[in-house]
Amino acid sequence: MKDTFTHKGMRKKLVETLKKKGIVDVAVLDAINTIPRHLFMDSGFVDHAYIDKAFPIGADQTISQPYTVARQTELLEVKRGDKILEIGTGSGYQTAVLLELGAVVFSIERQNELFKKTKLFLPKLGYRPKKLIFGDGYIGYKTEAPFDGIIVTAGAPFVPKPLMSQLKIGGKLIIPVGDVLQIMTVFTRTSETEFDKEEFGEYRFVPLLGNKE
Ligand code: SAM
Repeated sequence: MKDTFTHKGMRKKLVETLKKKGIVDVAVLDAINTIPRHLFMDSGFVDHAYIDKAFPIGADQTISQPYTVARQTELLEVKRGDKILEIGTGSGYQTAVLLELGAVVFSIERQNELFKKTKLFLPKLGYRPKKLIFGDGYIGYKTEAPFDGIIVTAGAPFVPKPLMSQLKIGGKLIIPVGDVLQIMTVFTRTSETEFDKEEFGEYRFVPLLGNKE
């Protein structure tokens, strides 16, 4: 598992691209500059690792576009020590970004093949999420709730209620909502029963799958 000067140079260029596209959070940009994204991808796609695009990672899933990862993470406003729940572990790249920011990360994946692969892979790079869970993100992770933040990395046809109820007061849920296209939506819990809602443009994700799909 090599990370060469060429890879590092390509990462710097990617960071410049993300800045031009409007990413301003320095900690997020630093994380992207640090993480060897090419190692999270199948070897056939390594040449594409530092292009700002989504790519296949097996089991019909994708590693999200770097801009999308950066934007969702920026919206989450992670502070060191925050307890974060990620829905859709996938390749583990977003998990690594959260860990670089000092978050305590719980992450759920419903595809067993990806779950097993990523569980073995992350520690090899020194990334240690608090827990990787094989399960259904629609129900969140009640055992460890409430969370400072929840980030959903697949397109949700609707906002799952358990995710709202597993937020701390002051906590944020970042979730792309919609069927074919999704609106990046941020819910901030302002009290036991109230949430603020903000929208941040259109994205296209693979779907957050239900139990029978
Ligand atoms: N965060 C990932 C990364 O950095 O590679 C992005 C992965 S991909 C865009 C979305 C992931 O969500 C896929 O791995 C998919 O299997 C997973 N997923 C889909 N439906 C899910 C569900 N109901 N619960 C948990 N994960 C789910």
